[in-house]
Parts: sequence; C-alpha cells; structure tokens
Amino acid sequence: MTEQRWIWALVGAAWLGAACQSERTAAAAAPPQALASAAEPELAARCTALAERALVDNQAIVLLRGLLDAAPKRLSGSPGYEAAVRWGLDTMRAIGLANVRTEPVLVPHWERGVEQAAVVGPGGMPLRVTALGGSIATPEGGLEAELIEVRSFEELASLGARAQGKIVFFNRPMPRHLRRTGQAYGEAVPQRSNGAIEAGKVGAVAALVRSMTTAIDGFPHTGAMHYDPSIPSVPAAAVATADAEALAARLRQGPVRVRLELGCRTLPDVMSANVLGELRGSEHPEQIVVIGGHLDAWDLGRGAHDDGAGIAHVLEAARLLRACGIAPKRTIRVVLFANEENGLRGGEAYAKDHAEELRHHVAALETDGGGFTPLGFSCSLRDEAAAAIRRRFAPLQDLGAGLFATGSGAGGADIGPLHRAGVPCFGLWVDGQKYFDYHHTAQDDLPAVHERELALGAAVVAYAASVLADQ
Ligand SMILES: [Zn+2]
Repeated sequence: MTEQRWIWALVGAAWLGAACQSERTAAAAAPPQALASAAEPELAARCTALAERALVDNQAIVLLRGLLDAAPKRLSGSPGYEAAVRWGLDTMRAIGLANVRTEPVLVPHWERGVEQAAVVGPGGMPLRVTALGGSIATPEGGLEAELIEVRSFEELASLGARAQGKIVFFNRPMPRHLRRTGQAYGEAVPQRSNGAIEAGKVGAVAALVRSMTTAIDGFPHTGAMHYDPSIPSVPAAAVATADAEALAARLRQGPVRVRLELGCRTLPDVMSANVLGELRGSEHPEQIVVIGGHLDAWDLGRGAHDDGAGIAHVLEAARLLRACGIAPKRTIRVVLFANEENGLRGGEAYAKDHAEELRHHVAALETDGGGFTPLGFSCSLRDEAAAAIRRRFAPLQDLGAGLFATGSGAGGADIGPLHRAGVPCFGLWVDGQKYFDYHHTAQDDLPAVHERELALGAAVVAYAASVLADQ
C-alpha cells in the first residue's frame, strides 16, 4: 500500500462521483455551466453520428461483459489482473488500434482472507464486514474487545486512555444533504483511509468503519486504507450500514463486545502492466490525447461501474471513431491503467515513463465515475483556454452532456500525475446519485449498469477525444 493520499482540488460543484481511492477536497472553482454557443455544423453532425452509432451498435455493454467474464476478479497483483491485461490487448487488437502493447508497472499485492465479525454475549448477532484493502490480519482465531463509537478523529483523541484495548467504531455517515455524492464521500472517507492510524495512536486493537454509502443496506464497502510506520498497525474492516445502525442502537443501551477475524495479508510486489493502444493521428501523430480508465478493481464484485465502465467507455470510443470514419489529426492513445485502487502506480508509471513525451500531450481524459448517464466534463483549464474547448463541446448539449466545469482539477486519479505535469485534463462527469450504492461492494456487477447509459458515455468520450485531437 502506498502512503499517497490523493487530495484533489475539485470543484465545489463538479465533483463527479468518481471517488475510488481516497478523500478529495473540494476547492474553489468555477461552477459548471451549460455549454453556450451554437455548434459548428460539422461538429454537431459528428456528435450525432457517434451517439447514434453507439446506441445502435450497443457494443459498450458487450465490451464490459467481455471484461467481467474474462477477469471477474482483477485486484492488482492477482492472476485475475493479468487476465484483464490479456483481454485488454486482445480487445485493442480486435478494435484495430495501432501500437498495442503493455508497459511495466510494479504493483502491490494484497489478498483478502477469511473475514467475519459478530456481537458476542447475550443478544449476539453476526456483522456483515469486509477487510479494508491493505489491512493486516487479526491474530489467528480473531480478537474480541469492547466497541467504542466515535464520529470524528477529534472525538477519538479526546477519549484518551478510554479507547485503549477497544475496537474503535467510526460511525460518521456520509452527509445526505450534499447533492454531489462524491463530495459527501470526500467528507466521510478519511475514517476509512486513516481510521486505523488514529485507532493505533490511542492504543485500540482494531478499527471498524461504517461503509461509505448513503444507502442503509447489508453490503460492506471495501476501499484503500493507510498505516503510518511510526504508529502501531491495527486491523481495519468496514461494516455494512444496516449493521452500523444496529450497533449504534445497541451501544445506546450498554456496552457491546465484538469478535473480529480477518485473514488478509500483503505479499511481495508483483511486476504488472498498463495496457496501451492508439488511433494514430493523421496530421500530427506525435501529439497525443490520452483517454483512459483503470483496469484493476476491488475484489468483492466484478467492478462493473468501478471501473469496468470506464474501460468500456474508452475502448468503445476508439471503436466508434473508427466505425464512423473519424480520423483524428492527433493521436488518441487509449490507456488502461493498473493499480488505481490501492496504489496509483499505473498512473505514476505512465507519467514517469513518458516524461520526455509529456510536452506533446495536448490533453488527458479519464472516465472513472461509473457507467451512468453522462452529464458533461470537468476540465482543469480556465478562462480563454477553457472557453475555446467549451465552444467545441457545445454539441454535447443535445446528448444531455452539456455541463462543463472549469478549473476543476485532474478529472481522474490516474491522470493526476499528468495534471501536475501541466497536461490539460478532463474528467467525464456522470450522474452519480447511485454510484455509492455499488462502489467497492459485491453489488458492483453487470446488472447495475444500463446499456444505453453506458453507450452514451462512450459516445461522449469519443466526441470529446476527437475534438481535443483536432483542436
Ligand atoms: Zn475507479
């Protein structure tokens, strides 16, 4: 597990919900606006053609199903991830991309083992839990301790010695009043990312974290967490929100003891890969627009929304451009990134290995908010540079994807290193109201994805990529 904490400056208004790994901090940015100007007729026709082709051919869902069948479990370092790499290479070749290849990435390798928990004693009840990614195991056979509930790190610190030897129960819900679910996630997720560190500081024996969702249900949500080498490490698990509510009710009546057993472990790093392929530019092939998503996924479900949908978006976008005979002037490079969920090493390796070439990267675009109805884009550019793109994105209004949030950060974790290197970055913005119902759970599977919503997302990515490549 890396120690990176990925703090994004992302739009008050625009954070899109693509919050896979960790906390994100909203910063001041221009509010999203509908795209204003009248479209150039050729661009409007291109946009319509791509959307119609996407809906009629309906290949985005076929691509997604293919990935989920070929590599249902594809956490970094696992054999399943390598199956996803093979699928990515085969699929890019079948689409007709050029320069199809892998590039090496050294990734962490963490495995989930047994995971179980229960309230013990009179009125005992099982708890639906899952280990957080990167957690250490409990002692063999599990541990048992009294539960102590907190809503904040400050509250935990104020407990002092009273938390010693206890299981700390972080039970602050994602705030419901925020319209942007990603913003609500950002407010609550430090409990998951850093709860084990804070629990270790006060001498607790484990951390149990309320799952990151506004839904009240029985599905625990995994996700990345961190340790601090200077603080004792304690095991950490997420508990389903319905069980978190039940635990809180029990605690109002008196002390609660919990038994927790986790069998997870961290193995040596594994040599893995990003997958790349290109639509070569007709006029300036050395200049590049990156479009990407992440090929790895958490292991509870099959990662249909996170980020199988993003992978389907970018591959289908490339297929659509070829199918519609749209030849970009600059090269569109499709990148399937490794290890977004628990390390971000794929994005870092790409930026490092292509450092010399980054001055030729004219844009990078990521889709990692799920396969929901596309609403528009976030964009790191501001002022005139952003306005020029906004005018050319105007035809997206007809698809309902006309929102455009400027000055809004990287647009995706994998392209964060490109953003920091000065590459203009874009994030596909989708309707995120349901995203955290599925995010990092066993429910993130194919039935949660609607084929027309997914197809429209691919068409929107295809249009945006072609416009960025032709600007
Ligand atoms: Zn993701």
